[in-house]
Amino acid sequence: MKKFNILVFLLLNIMITTAGATQISYTLTFPEAQAHYVDVEMRIAGLNQKELNLKMPVWTPGSYLVREFARNIETISAAAGSKDLPIQKTRKNTWHVNTTGVPVLTVKYRVYAFEISVRTSFIDASHAFLSSPDIFIYPDGMLNQSSTIHILPYKDWTTVSTSLETVNNDAFTRQSPNYDILFDSPIEVGTQDVFGFEAAGVKYEVAMCGGGNYDKERLKKDMAKIVEEETAIYGENPNKHYTFIVHNYLKGGGGLEHLSSTVLGASRYKYADEKGYESFLSLAAHEHFHLWNVKRLRPIALGPFDYDNENYTTNLWIAEGFTAYYQDIIVRRMHLYPPENYLGILADNISSLDNQPGVKIQSLADASYDAWIKSYRPNENSTNTTISYYTKGALVALLLDLEIIHDTNGAKSLDDVMRYMYNEYYKVKKRGYTDAEFKQGLEKFAGKNLDEFYKNYITGLTPLDYNKYLQYAGYKITDEYAGSNNPALGISTVVSGGKIVVATVVRGSAGWIDGINVNDELVSINGVKLTTTDGLLNDKKPGDKLTVNINRDGLPLTLQVTLLKNTRVKYKIEALGDVNAQQLTVRKKWLKL
Ligand SMILES: [Zn+2]
Repeated sequence: MKKFNILVFLLLNIMITTAGATQISYTLTFPEAQAHYVDVEMRIAGLNQKELNLKMPVWTPGSYLVREFARNIETISAAAGSKDLPIQKTRKNTWHVNTTGVPVLTVKYRVYAFEISVRTSFIDASHAFLSSPDIFIYPDGMLNQSSTIHILPYKDWTTVSTSLETVNNDAFTRQSPNYDILFDSPIEVGTQDVFGFEAAGVKYEVAMCGGGNYDKERLKKDMAKIVEEETAIYGENPNKHYTFIVHNYLKGGGGLEHLSSTVLGASRYKYADEKGYESFLSLAAHEHFHLWNVKRLRPIALGPFDYDNENYTTNLWIAEGFTAYYQDIIVRRMHLYPPENYLGILADNISSLDNQPGVKIQSLADASYDAWIKSYRPNENSTNTTISYYTKGALVALLLDLEIIHDTNGAKSLDDVMRYMYNEYYKVKKRGYTDAEFKQGLEKFAGKNLDEFYKNYITGLTPLDYNKYLQYAGYKITDEYAGSNNPALGISTVVSGGKIVVATVVRGSAGWIDGINVNDELVSINGVKLTTTDGLLNDKKPGDKLTVNINRDGLPLTLQVTLLKNTRVKYKIEALGDVNAQQLTVRKKWLKL
Protein backbone atom coordinates (compact mmCIF):
# COMPACT_ATOMS: atom_id res chain seq x y z
CA MET A 1 0.00 0.00 0.00
CA LYS A 2 1.45 3.28 -1.07
CA LYS A 3 0.58 6.66 0.37
CA PHE A 4 -0.32 9.53 -1.89
CA ASN A 5 2.69 11.35 -3.24
CA ILE A 6 2.37 15.10 -3.86
CA LEU A 7 4.74 15.02 -6.88
CA VAL A 8 2.63 12.35 -8.59
CA PHE A 9 -0.39 14.53 -7.85
CA LEU A 10 1.15 17.61 -9.51
CA LEU A 11 2.32 15.67 -12.57
CA LEU A 12 -1.08 14.07 -12.90
CA ASN A 13 -2.78 17.45 -12.82
CA ILE A 14 -0.47 18.84 -15.49
CA MET A 15 -1.29 15.86 -17.68
CA ILE A 16 -5.01 16.33 -17.07
CA THR A 17 -4.85 20.05 -17.88
CA THR A 18 -3.20 19.47 -21.21
CA ALA A 19 -5.50 16.64 -22.26
CA GLY A 20 -7.96 18.95 -24.05
CA ALA A 21 -11.46 17.73 -23.14
CA THR A 22 -13.04 18.52 -19.79
CA GLN A 23 -11.16 16.84 -16.96
CA ILE A 24 -12.45 16.61 -13.43
CA SER A 25 -10.49 15.70 -10.34
CA TYR A 26 -11.22 15.74 -6.63
CA THR A 27 -8.72 15.95 -3.82
CA LEU A 28 -9.97 14.85 -0.41
CA THR A 29 -8.15 15.90 2.74
CA PHE A 30 -9.08 15.37 6.38
CA PRO A 31 -7.43 18.12 8.45
CA GLU A 32 -10.26 17.83 11.00
CA ALA A 33 -11.25 14.19 10.75
CA GLN A 34 -11.70 14.12 14.52
CA ALA A 35 -14.47 16.71 14.11
CA HIS A 36 -16.03 14.71 11.23
CA TYR A 37 -15.04 16.86 8.26
CA VAL A 38 -13.66 16.16 4.82
CA ASP A 39 -12.29 19.04 2.74
CA VAL A 40 -12.92 18.61 -0.95
CA GLU A 41 -11.18 20.40 -3.77
CA MET A 42 -12.78 19.87 -7.15
CA ARG A 43 -10.85 20.93 -10.20
CA ILE A 44 -12.51 21.15 -13.60
CA ALA A 45 -10.14 21.74 -16.51
CA GLY A 46 -10.96 22.21 -20.19
CA LEU A 47 -13.99 24.42 -19.56
CA ASN A 48 -15.23 26.79 -22.22
CA GLN A 49 -18.42 28.38 -21.00
CA LYS A 50 -19.71 31.54 -19.38
CA GLU A 51 -21.46 29.86 -16.46
CA LEU A 52 -21.77 26.53 -14.74
CA ASN A 53 -24.17 24.92 -12.28
CA LEU A 54 -22.79 22.56 -9.66
CA LYS A 55 -25.06 20.03 -8.01
CA MET A 56 -25.19 17.42 -5.29
CA PRO A 57 -27.57 14.43 -5.36
CA VAL A 58 -30.48 14.61 -2.90
CA TRP A 59 -30.60 10.83 -2.42
CA THR A 60 -28.53 7.66 -2.60
CA PRO A 61 -29.70 4.99 -5.07
CA GLY A 62 -30.89 1.90 -3.22
CA SER A 63 -32.13 3.92 -0.26
CA TYR A 64 -35.44 5.47 -1.25
CA LEU A 65 -35.52 8.66 0.78
CA VAL A 66 -34.66 12.26 -0.13
CA ARG A 67 -31.91 12.97 2.38
CA GLU A 68 -30.93 16.50 1.27
CA PHE A 69 -27.19 15.85 1.39
CA ALA A 70 -26.39 19.49 0.57
CA ARG A 71 -27.33 20.34 4.15
CA ASN A 72 -23.96 18.96 5.27
CA ILE A 73 -21.95 21.31 3.05
CA GLU A 74 -20.36 24.46 4.39
CA THR A 75 -17.92 27.13 3.19
CA ILE A 76 -18.07 26.57 -0.54
CA SER A 77 -15.93 28.80 -2.79
CA ALA A 78 -14.90 28.96 -6.44
CA ALA A 79 -11.75 30.31 -8.07
CA ALA A 80 -9.87 30.50 -11.34
CA GLY A 81 -6.20 30.35 -10.37
CA SER A 82 -5.76 33.01 -7.69
CA LYS A 83 -8.91 34.89 -8.72
CA ASP A 84 -12.07 34.21 -6.71
CA LEU A 85 -15.24 33.72 -8.73
CA PRO A 86 -18.72 34.49 -7.39
CA ILE A 87 -20.65 31.35 -6.44
CA GLN A 88 -24.33 31.58 -5.63
CA LYS A 89 -26.85 29.05 -4.36
CA THR A 90 -29.90 28.81 -6.64
CA ARG A 91 -31.63 25.71 -5.33
CA LYS A 92 -31.30 23.50 -2.25
CA ASN A 93 -28.69 21.35 -4.03
CA THR A 94 -27.41 23.70 -6.77
CA TRP A 95 -24.70 26.37 -6.91
CA HIS A 96 -24.23 28.75 -9.82
CA VAL A 97 -20.77 29.95 -10.86
CA ASN A 98 -20.01 32.74 -13.36
CA THR A 99 -17.10 30.99 -14.95
CA THR A 100 -16.69 33.83 -17.49
CA GLY A 101 -14.92 31.51 -19.94
CA VAL A 102 -12.03 30.49 -17.70
CA PRO A 103 -10.55 27.12 -18.73
CA VAL A 104 -9.82 25.83 -15.22
CA LEU A 105 -12.17 26.14 -12.27
CA THR A 106 -11.41 25.16 -8.70
CA VAL A 107 -14.18 24.66 -6.16
CA LYS A 108 -13.45 24.08 -2.50
CA TYR A 109 -15.99 22.93 0.05
CA ARG A 110 -16.27 21.13 3.38
CA VAL A 111 -18.63 18.29 4.17
CA TYR A 112 -19.71 17.33 7.67
CA ALA A 113 -20.12 13.55 7.97
CA PHE A 114 -21.44 12.14 11.20
CA GLU A 115 -24.35 9.86 10.33
CA ILE A 116 -23.63 6.21 11.01
CA SER A 117 -25.42 4.14 8.38
CA VAL A 118 -24.59 2.16 5.27
CA ARG A 119 -25.99 4.98 3.10
CA THR A 120 -24.47 8.10 4.65
CA SER A 121 -20.91 9.25 5.21
CA PHE A 122 -19.21 9.07 8.57
CA ILE A 123 -15.78 10.42 9.50
CA ASP A 124 -13.85 10.38 12.76
CA ALA A 125 -10.20 10.08 13.74
CA SER A 126 -10.26 6.31 13.19
CA HIS A 127 -11.63 6.16 9.65
CA ALA A 128 -13.69 7.76 6.90
CA PHE A 129 -16.61 6.07 5.24
CA LEU A 130 -17.47 8.12 2.17
CA SER A 131 -20.85 7.42 0.61
CA SER A 132 -20.16 9.19 -2.67
CA PRO A 133 -23.51 10.94 -3.38
CA ASP A 134 -23.13 13.01 -0.21
CA ILE A 135 -19.46 13.87 -0.84
CA PHE A 136 -19.04 14.69 -4.53
CA ILE A 137 -20.55 17.79 -6.11
CA TYR A 138 -20.87 17.40 -9.89
CA PRO A 139 -21.12 19.85 -12.80
CA ASP A 140 -24.66 19.93 -14.14
CA GLY A 141 -25.02 18.24 -17.52
CA MET A 142 -21.75 16.32 -17.12
CA LEU A 143 -22.93 13.07 -15.53
CA ASN A 144 -21.09 11.15 -18.24
CA GLN A 145 -17.74 12.73 -17.37
CA SER A 146 -14.96 10.67 -15.88
CA SER A 147 -13.16 11.90 -12.78
CA THR A 148 -10.08 11.18 -10.70
CA ILE A 149 -10.15 11.08 -6.91
CA HIS A 150 -7.04 11.76 -4.84
CA ILE A 151 -7.23 10.81 -1.19
CA LEU A 152 -4.79 12.34 1.29
CA PRO A 153 -5.36 10.23 4.39
CA TYR A 154 -5.55 11.49 7.95
CA LYS A 155 -2.64 10.62 10.28
CA ASP A 156 -2.17 6.85 10.42
CA TRP A 157 -4.81 5.77 7.91
CA THR A 158 -3.18 3.21 5.67
CA THR A 159 -5.81 1.62 3.49
CA VAL A 160 -8.45 2.46 0.88
CA SER A 161 -11.25 0.01 0.06
CA THR A 162 -13.53 0.76 -2.88
CA SER A 163 -14.48 -0.78 -6.20
CA LEU A 164 -13.14 2.29 -8.06
CA GLU A 165 -10.07 1.44 -10.14
CA THR A 166 -6.66 2.68 -9.02
CA VAL A 167 -4.56 5.04 -11.13
CA ASN A 168 -0.94 3.90 -11.63
CA ASN A 169 -1.46 1.25 -8.95
CA ASP A 170 -1.76 3.96 -6.33
CA ALA A 171 -4.44 2.90 -3.85
CA PHE A 172 -4.94 6.54 -2.86
CA THR A 173 -5.72 7.66 -6.42
CA ARG A 174 -8.89 6.30 -7.97
CA GLN A 175 -10.80 6.95 -11.13
CA SER A 176 -14.40 6.74 -12.16
CA PRO A 177 -15.62 6.54 -15.77
CA ASN A 178 -18.79 8.54 -15.04
CA TYR A 179 -20.86 9.88 -12.16
CA ASP A 180 -23.33 6.99 -12.07
CA ILE A 181 -20.40 4.75 -11.20
CA LEU A 182 -18.84 7.26 -8.80
CA PHE A 183 -22.15 7.63 -6.93
CA ASP A 184 -22.38 3.84 -6.84
CA SER A 185 -18.91 3.36 -5.36
CA PRO A 186 -18.53 4.04 -1.65
CA ILE A 187 -14.99 4.53 -0.34
CA GLU A 188 -13.62 3.36 2.99
CA VAL A 189 -10.34 4.90 4.22
CA GLY A 190 -8.70 3.87 7.47
CA THR A 191 -6.94 0.91 9.03
CA GLN A 192 -9.45 -1.78 8.11
CA ASP A 193 -8.57 -5.47 8.08
CA VAL A 194 -8.62 -6.54 4.42
CA PHE A 195 -8.72 -10.07 3.10
CA GLY A 196 -9.59 -11.58 -0.23
CA PHE A 197 -10.85 -14.66 -1.99
CA GLU A 198 -11.64 -15.67 -5.52
CA ALA A 199 -14.99 -17.08 -6.59
CA ALA A 200 -16.81 -17.50 -9.89
CA GLY A 201 -13.68 -16.13 -11.58
CA VAL A 202 -13.97 -12.80 -9.75
CA LYS A 203 -11.54 -11.27 -7.23
CA TYR A 204 -13.32 -10.46 -3.98
CA GLU A 205 -12.05 -8.14 -1.27
CA VAL A 206 -13.53 -7.96 2.21
CA ALA A 207 -12.73 -4.84 4.26
CA MET A 208 -13.55 -5.39 7.94
CA CYS A 209 -13.84 -2.11 9.83
CA GLY A 210 -14.27 -1.79 13.57
CA GLY A 211 -12.92 -5.21 14.62
CA GLY A 212 -14.92 -8.25 15.63
CA ASN A 213 -14.75 -11.94 16.48
CA TYR A 214 -15.01 -13.11 12.87
CA ASP A 215 -13.19 -16.18 11.61
CA LYS A 216 -11.48 -15.01 8.43
CA GLU A 217 -10.95 -18.46 6.92
CA ARG A 218 -14.53 -19.52 7.58
CA LEU A 219 -15.84 -16.29 6.06
CA LYS A 220 -13.68 -16.69 2.95
CA LYS A 221 -15.05 -20.18 2.41
CA ASP A 222 -18.70 -19.33 3.07
CA MET A 223 -18.73 -16.01 1.21
CA ALA A 224 -17.19 -17.78 -1.79
CA LYS A 225 -20.05 -20.29 -1.62
CA ILE A 226 -22.58 -17.45 -1.65
CA VAL A 227 -20.90 -16.02 -4.74
CA GLU A 228 -20.91 -19.40 -6.51
CA GLU A 229 -24.56 -20.14 -5.68
CA GLU A 230 -25.74 -16.73 -6.84
CA THR A 231 -23.62 -16.72 -9.98
CA ALA A 232 -25.11 -20.12 -10.88
CA ILE A 233 -28.60 -18.56 -10.89
CA TYR A 234 -27.71 -15.85 -13.41
CA GLY A 235 -25.17 -17.84 -15.39
CA GLU A 236 -22.49 -15.15 -15.19
CA ASN A 237 -20.81 -12.81 -12.76
CA PRO A 238 -20.38 -9.47 -14.56
CA ASN A 239 -17.69 -8.00 -12.28
CA LYS A 240 -13.93 -8.30 -12.51
CA HIS A 241 -13.60 -7.45 -8.85
CA TYR A 242 -16.02 -6.79 -6.02
CA THR A 243 -15.61 -5.20 -2.59
CA PHE A 244 -17.47 -5.98 0.64
CA ILE A 245 -17.10 -3.07 3.08
CA VAL A 246 -18.22 -4.34 6.48
CA HIS A 247 -18.83 -1.91 9.34
CA ASN A 248 -18.76 -3.73 12.65
CA TYR A 249 -20.51 -1.99 15.52
CA LEU A 250 -21.51 -3.05 19.00
CA LYS A 251 -24.95 -3.55 17.47
CA GLY A 252 -25.19 -3.18 13.72
CA GLY A 253 -27.20 -4.28 10.75
CA GLY A 254 -28.43 -3.32 7.31
CA GLY A 255 -26.68 -3.09 3.99
CA LEU A 256 -26.63 -1.13 0.78
CA GLU A 257 -26.03 -2.60 -2.64
CA HIS A 258 -23.80 -1.17 -5.33
CA LEU A 259 -22.73 -2.19 -8.82
CA SER A 260 -19.41 -3.74 -7.80
CA SER A 261 -19.43 -3.44 -4.04
CA THR A 262 -21.64 -3.35 -1.01
CA VAL A 263 -21.60 -1.89 2.48
CA LEU A 264 -22.79 -4.09 5.33
CA GLY A 265 -23.51 -3.20 8.94
CA ALA A 266 -22.78 -6.00 11.40
CA SER A 267 -22.53 -6.68 15.12
CA ARG A 268 -18.86 -7.12 15.94
CA TYR A 269 -19.32 -9.91 18.49
CA LYS A 270 -22.07 -11.89 16.76
CA TYR A 271 -19.87 -13.85 14.36
CA ALA A 272 -19.09 -16.57 16.91
CA ASP A 273 -22.78 -17.14 17.58
CA GLU A 274 -24.34 -19.55 15.03
CA LYS A 275 -27.56 -17.58 14.65
CA GLY A 276 -25.60 -14.34 14.36
CA TYR A 277 -23.28 -15.89 11.79
CA GLU A 278 -26.18 -17.25 9.76
CA SER A 279 -27.81 -13.83 9.70
CA PHE A 280 -24.52 -12.20 8.62
CA LEU A 281 -24.26 -14.65 5.71
CA SER A 282 -27.86 -13.97 4.84
CA LEU A 283 -27.16 -10.20 4.78
CA ALA A 284 -24.06 -10.73 2.61
CA ALA A 285 -26.12 -12.97 0.29
CA HIS A 286 -28.84 -10.29 0.08
CA GLU A 287 -26.57 -7.41 -0.86
CA HIS A 288 -24.47 -9.49 -3.22
CA PHE A 289 -27.60 -10.81 -4.98
CA HIS A 290 -28.44 -7.18 -5.75
CA LEU A 291 -25.46 -6.89 -8.09
CA TRP A 292 -27.80 -8.62 -10.54
CA ASN A 293 -31.28 -7.93 -9.14
CA VAL A 294 -31.70 -4.12 -9.10
CA LYS A 295 -28.20 -3.00 -10.07
CA ARG A 296 -28.40 -4.62 -13.51
CA LEU A 297 -31.76 -6.38 -13.85
CA ARG A 298 -33.84 -3.40 -12.74
CA PRO A 299 -37.25 -1.76 -12.80
CA ILE A 300 -37.31 0.73 -15.64
CA ALA A 301 -37.60 3.71 -13.27
CA LEU A 302 -34.36 2.83 -11.46
CA GLY A 303 -31.76 4.05 -13.92
CA PRO A 304 -30.54 6.27 -15.36
CA PHE A 305 -31.27 8.00 -12.07
CA ASP A 306 -32.73 11.42 -11.47
CA TYR A 307 -30.47 12.65 -8.65
CA ASP A 308 -32.65 15.70 -7.96
CA ASN A 309 -35.94 13.97 -7.20
CA GLU A 310 -37.70 10.80 -6.06
CA ASN A 311 -37.54 7.94 -8.59
CA TYR A 312 -40.88 6.13 -8.34
CA THR A 313 -41.43 2.43 -9.03
CA THR A 314 -44.11 -0.09 -8.09
CA ASN A 315 -41.53 -2.88 -8.36
CA LEU A 316 -39.49 -2.75 -5.16
CA TRP A 317 -41.26 -5.98 -4.17
CA ILE A 318 -39.20 -7.59 -6.97
CA ALA A 319 -35.99 -5.60 -6.43
CA GLU A 320 -36.02 -5.99 -2.63
CA GLY A 321 -38.61 -8.69 -1.92
CA PHE A 322 -37.17 -11.26 -4.32
CA THR A 323 -33.69 -10.44 -3.03
CA ALA A 324 -34.95 -10.99 0.53
CA TYR A 325 -36.33 -14.38 -0.57
CA TYR A 326 -33.01 -15.37 -2.09
CA GLN A 327 -30.93 -14.20 0.89
CA ASP A 328 -32.25 -17.12 2.95
CA ILE A 329 -32.73 -19.72 0.23
CA ILE A 330 -29.10 -19.16 -0.86
CA VAL A 331 -27.83 -19.84 2.67
CA ARG A 332 -30.12 -22.89 2.70
CA ARG A 333 -28.56 -24.12 -0.55
CA MET A 334 -25.11 -23.91 1.06
CA HIS A 335 -26.15 -26.74 3.42
CA LEU A 336 -24.58 -25.11 6.46
CA TYR A 337 -27.72 -25.67 8.52
CA PRO A 338 -30.56 -28.21 8.45
CA PRO A 339 -33.64 -27.35 6.34
CA GLU A 340 -35.64 -26.77 9.55
CA ASN A 341 -33.63 -23.58 10.15
CA TYR A 342 -34.84 -22.25 6.83
CA LEU A 343 -38.45 -23.32 7.44
CA GLY A 344 -38.26 -21.60 10.84
CA ILE A 345 -37.07 -18.32 9.28
CA LEU A 346 -39.89 -18.59 6.73
CA ALA A 347 -42.53 -19.19 9.42
CA ASP A 348 -41.24 -16.19 11.41
CA ASN A 349 -41.48 -13.99 8.30
CA ILE A 350 -45.04 -15.11 7.64
CA SER A 351 -45.97 -14.43 11.27
CA SER A 352 -44.41 -10.98 11.16
CA LEU A 353 -46.37 -10.04 8.02
CA ASP A 354 -49.67 -11.36 9.34
CA ASN A 355 -49.20 -9.63 12.70
CA GLN A 356 -49.01 -6.28 10.94
CA PRO A 357 -52.51 -4.75 10.58
CA GLY A 358 -51.21 -2.76 7.59
CA VAL A 359 -51.39 -6.00 5.57
CA LYS A 360 -55.11 -5.25 5.17
CA ILE A 361 -54.49 -1.65 4.11
CA GLN A 362 -51.46 -1.38 1.80
CA SER A 363 -50.75 -3.48 -1.29
CA LEU A 364 -47.28 -4.54 -2.37
CA ALA A 365 -47.33 -2.22 -5.39
CA ASP A 366 -48.42 0.73 -3.20
CA ALA A 367 -45.79 -0.06 -0.53
CA SER A 368 -43.17 0.14 -3.25
CA TYR A 369 -44.40 3.35 -4.82
CA ASP A 370 -44.70 5.12 -1.47
CA ALA A 371 -41.36 3.88 -0.07
CA TRP A 372 -40.13 7.50 -0.17
CA ILE A 373 -42.81 8.83 2.14
CA LYS A 374 -43.88 5.76 4.12
CA SER A 375 -41.41 2.87 4.40
CA TYR A 376 -38.44 5.24 4.83
CA ARG A 377 -40.38 7.65 7.04
CA PRO A 378 -42.15 5.40 9.52
CA ASN A 379 -44.15 6.73 12.42
CA GLU A 380 -46.06 5.35 15.39
CA ASN A 381 -48.95 4.28 13.14
CA SER A 382 -46.88 2.55 10.43
CA THR A 383 -47.65 -0.95 11.69
CA ASN A 384 -51.36 -0.22 11.21
CA THR A 385 -51.13 1.23 7.76
CA THR A 386 -48.12 -0.17 5.90
CA ILE A 387 -46.34 -3.43 5.11
CA SER A 388 -42.74 -4.25 4.32
CA TYR A 389 -42.24 -4.90 0.61
CA TYR A 390 -39.22 -6.91 1.71
CA THR A 391 -41.23 -9.35 3.81
CA LYS A 392 -44.33 -9.64 1.62
CA GLY A 393 -42.26 -9.49 -1.59
CA ALA A 394 -40.14 -12.40 -0.31
CA LEU A 395 -43.26 -14.41 0.49
CA VAL A 396 -44.72 -13.71 -2.94
CA ALA A 397 -41.40 -14.93 -4.40
CA LEU A 398 -41.80 -18.09 -2.31
CA LEU A 399 -45.27 -18.72 -3.74
CA LEU A 400 -44.06 -18.10 -7.30
CA ASP A 401 -41.02 -20.34 -6.84
CA LEU A 402 -43.20 -23.19 -5.54
CA GLU A 403 -45.75 -22.59 -8.31
CA ILE A 404 -43.13 -22.81 -11.07
CA ILE A 405 -41.37 -25.84 -9.57
CA HIS A 406 -44.75 -27.56 -9.17
CA ASP A 407 -46.06 -26.65 -12.62
CA THR A 408 -42.88 -27.87 -14.32
CA ASN A 409 -42.51 -30.95 -12.12
CA GLY A 410 -39.15 -29.74 -10.84
CA ALA A 411 -37.70 -28.79 -14.22
CA LYS A 412 -37.79 -25.01 -13.68
CA SER A 413 -37.87 -22.58 -10.76
CA LEU A 414 -37.82 -18.86 -10.02
CA ASP A 415 -34.06 -19.04 -10.77
CA ASP A 416 -34.93 -19.52 -14.44
CA VAL A 417 -37.09 -16.39 -14.43
CA MET A 418 -34.29 -14.33 -12.91
CA ARG A 419 -31.74 -15.62 -15.44
CA TYR A 420 -34.12 -15.08 -18.36
CA MET A 421 -35.01 -11.53 -17.26
CA TYR A 422 -31.33 -10.67 -16.68
CA ASN A 423 -30.41 -11.82 -20.17
CA GLU A 424 -33.42 -10.34 -21.87
CA TYR A 425 -33.41 -6.87 -20.26
CA TYR A 426 -29.94 -6.16 -18.90
CA LYS A 427 -27.94 -7.85 -21.64
CA VAL A 428 -30.07 -7.82 -24.79
CA LYS A 429 -32.43 -4.84 -24.48
CA LYS A 430 -30.03 -2.93 -22.20
CA ARG A 431 -32.81 -1.29 -20.22
CA GLY A 432 -35.04 -1.85 -17.20
CA TYR A 433 -38.24 -3.88 -17.25
CA THR A 434 -41.81 -2.61 -16.94
CA ASP A 435 -44.48 -4.10 -14.65
CA ALA A 436 -45.99 -5.99 -17.58
CA GLU A 437 -42.65 -7.32 -18.79
CA PHE A 438 -41.69 -8.83 -15.44
CA LYS A 439 -45.14 -10.43 -15.24
CA GLN A 440 -44.65 -11.90 -18.72
CA GLY A 441 -41.31 -13.35 -17.61
CA LEU A 442 -42.99 -15.06 -14.65
CA GLU A 443 -45.84 -16.33 -16.84
CA LYS A 444 -43.40 -17.76 -19.35
CA PHE A 445 -42.02 -20.14 -16.72
CA ALA A 446 -45.19 -20.70 -14.69
CA GLY A 447 -46.87 -21.65 -17.96
CA LYS A 448 -50.01 -19.79 -16.98
CA ASN A 449 -51.64 -16.40 -16.87
CA LEU A 450 -50.94 -14.57 -13.60
CA ASP A 451 -53.61 -11.84 -13.85
CA GLU A 452 -55.48 -13.25 -10.88
CA PHE A 453 -52.27 -13.72 -8.85
CA TYR A 454 -51.30 -10.08 -9.44
CA LYS A 455 -54.81 -8.82 -8.73
CA ASN A 456 -54.87 -10.69 -5.43
CA TYR A 457 -51.34 -10.42 -4.14
CA ILE A 458 -49.54 -7.53 -5.87
CA THR A 459 -52.11 -4.79 -6.38
CA GLY A 460 -54.75 -6.31 -4.07
CA LEU A 461 -55.02 -7.21 -0.40
CA THR A 462 -56.05 -10.87 -0.55
CA PRO A 463 -54.22 -12.84 2.18
CA LEU A 464 -51.48 -15.08 0.73
CA ASP A 465 -52.65 -18.71 0.53
CA TYR A 466 -49.54 -20.30 2.04
CA ASN A 467 -50.93 -23.79 2.43
CA LYS A 468 -51.96 -24.06 -1.21
CA TYR A 469 -48.33 -23.53 -2.24
CA LEU A 470 -46.52 -25.22 0.66
CA GLN A 471 -48.43 -28.43 0.06
CA TYR A 472 -46.86 -28.58 -3.42
CA ALA A 473 -43.68 -29.42 -1.47
CA GLY A 474 -45.45 -31.56 1.12
CA TYR A 475 -45.52 -28.97 3.90
CA LYS A 476 -48.22 -27.17 5.83
CA ILE A 477 -48.33 -24.10 8.00
CA THR A 478 -50.17 -24.00 11.32
CA ASP A 479 -50.69 -21.30 13.92
CA GLU A 480 -49.40 -22.33 17.34
CA TYR A 481 -51.69 -19.75 18.98
CA ALA A 482 -54.82 -20.92 17.13
CA GLY A 483 -56.49 -22.63 20.08
CA SER A 484 -55.49 -20.16 22.78
CA ASN A 485 -57.83 -17.68 24.42
CA ASN A 486 -55.28 -15.22 25.76
CA PRO A 487 -56.34 -11.62 26.25
CA ALA A 488 -54.43 -8.63 24.90
CA LEU A 489 -54.37 -4.87 25.30
CA GLY A 490 -52.88 -4.50 21.82
CA ILE A 491 -50.22 -1.98 22.75
CA SER A 492 -46.45 -1.97 22.88
CA THR A 493 -44.56 0.06 25.45
CA VAL A 494 -41.10 1.41 26.12
CA VAL A 495 -39.59 2.33 29.45
CA SER A 496 -38.40 5.92 29.38
CA GLY A 497 -37.03 7.70 32.47
CA GLY A 498 -38.56 5.02 34.70
CA LYS A 499 -41.97 5.53 33.09
CA ILE A 500 -43.91 3.01 31.02
CA VAL A 501 -44.87 4.82 27.83
CA VAL A 502 -47.07 3.54 24.99
CA ALA A 503 -45.17 3.22 21.69
CA THR A 504 -47.79 1.68 19.40
CA VAL A 505 -51.49 0.88 19.53
CA VAL A 506 -52.61 -1.96 17.26
CA ARG A 507 -55.56 -1.27 14.98
CA GLY A 508 -58.74 -2.97 16.21
CA SER A 509 -57.25 -3.97 19.59
CA ALA A 510 -58.68 -3.25 23.05
CA GLY A 511 -56.27 -0.32 23.44
CA TRP A 512 -57.30 1.09 20.06
CA ILE A 513 -61.06 0.78 20.69
CA ASP A 514 -61.01 2.10 24.26
CA GLY A 515 -58.74 5.05 23.55
CA ILE A 516 -55.19 4.34 24.76
CA ASN A 517 -52.89 6.66 22.79
CA VAL A 518 -49.27 6.55 21.76
CA ASN A 519 -47.17 8.56 24.28
CA ASP A 520 -49.61 7.86 27.14
CA GLU A 521 -47.78 6.98 30.37
CA LEU A 522 -49.34 3.92 31.98
CA VAL A 523 -49.59 4.73 35.71
CA SER A 524 -51.78 2.01 37.24
CA ILE A 525 -54.19 -0.75 36.28
CA ASN A 526 -57.12 -1.61 38.59
CA GLY A 527 -55.48 0.56 41.26
CA VAL A 528 -52.12 -1.24 41.20
CA LYS A 529 -49.19 1.00 40.32
CA LEU A 530 -47.26 -0.30 37.31
CA THR A 531 -43.52 -0.85 37.47
CA THR A 532 -43.41 -3.33 34.57
CA THR A 533 -45.79 -4.74 31.98
CA ASP A 534 -44.47 -8.29 32.49
CA GLY A 535 -47.24 -10.64 33.57
CA LEU A 536 -49.75 -7.80 33.47
CA LEU A 537 -52.57 -9.93 32.06
CA ASN A 538 -51.60 -13.26 33.63
CA ASP A 539 -54.87 -13.87 35.47
CA LYS A 540 -57.10 -12.12 32.92
CA LYS A 541 -59.27 -13.31 30.04
CA PRO A 542 -60.99 -11.70 27.07
CA GLY A 543 -64.02 -9.66 28.20
CA ASP A 544 -62.43 -8.62 31.53
CA LYS A 545 -62.69 -4.90 32.22
CA LEU A 546 -59.70 -2.89 33.37
CA THR A 547 -59.50 0.56 34.90
CA VAL A 548 -56.38 2.08 33.38
CA ASN A 549 -54.94 5.26 34.87
CA ILE A 550 -52.72 7.13 32.50
CA ASN A 551 -50.85 10.39 32.31
CA ARG A 552 -51.38 12.16 28.99
CA ASP A 553 -49.35 15.29 28.41
CA GLY A 554 -49.13 15.92 32.16
CA LEU A 555 -52.84 15.42 32.85
CA PRO A 556 -54.30 12.37 34.66
CA LEU A 557 -56.93 10.37 32.79
CA THR A 558 -58.86 7.18 33.59
CA LEU A 559 -59.90 4.78 30.82
CA GLN A 560 -62.16 1.75 31.03
CA VAL A 561 -60.71 -0.92 28.79
CA THR A 562 -62.34 -4.23 27.88
CA LEU A 563 -59.78 -6.89 27.05
CA LEU A 564 -60.08 -8.68 23.70
CA LYS A 565 -58.70 -11.99 22.51
CA ASN A 566 -55.09 -11.79 21.38
CA THR A 567 -55.21 -12.05 17.59
CA ARG A 568 -51.47 -12.46 17.06
CA VAL A 569 -50.30 -15.52 15.16
CA LYS A 570 -47.19 -17.68 15.57
CA TYR A 571 -46.72 -19.98 12.64
CA LYS A 572 -44.71 -23.14 12.24
CA ILE A 573 -44.11 -25.08 9.04
CA GLU A 574 -44.29 -28.86 9.25
CA ALA A 575 -44.00 -31.74 6.81
CA LEU A 576 -47.28 -33.39 5.79
CA GLY A 577 -47.69 -37.01 6.81
CA ASP A 578 -48.25 -38.47 3.36
CA VAL A 579 -46.05 -37.07 0.67
CA ASN A 580 -46.28 -38.26 -2.92
CA ALA A 581 -43.50 -38.44 -5.50
CA GLN A 582 -44.39 -35.10 -7.09
CA GLN A 583 -44.33 -33.33 -3.73
CA LEU A 584 -40.95 -34.88 -2.99
CA THR A 585 -39.64 -33.67 -6.35
CA VAL A 586 -40.80 -30.12 -5.57
CA ARG A 587 -39.33 -30.27 -2.07
CA LYS A 588 -35.95 -31.49 -3.28
CA LYS A 589 -35.72 -28.82 -5.95
CA TRP A 590 -36.92 -26.03 -3.68
CA LEU A 591 -34.71 -26.81 -0.67
CA LYS A 592 -31.84 -28.35 -2.65
CA LEU A 593 -32.00 -31.49 -0.52
ZN1 LIG B 1 -31.90 -5.01 -0.56
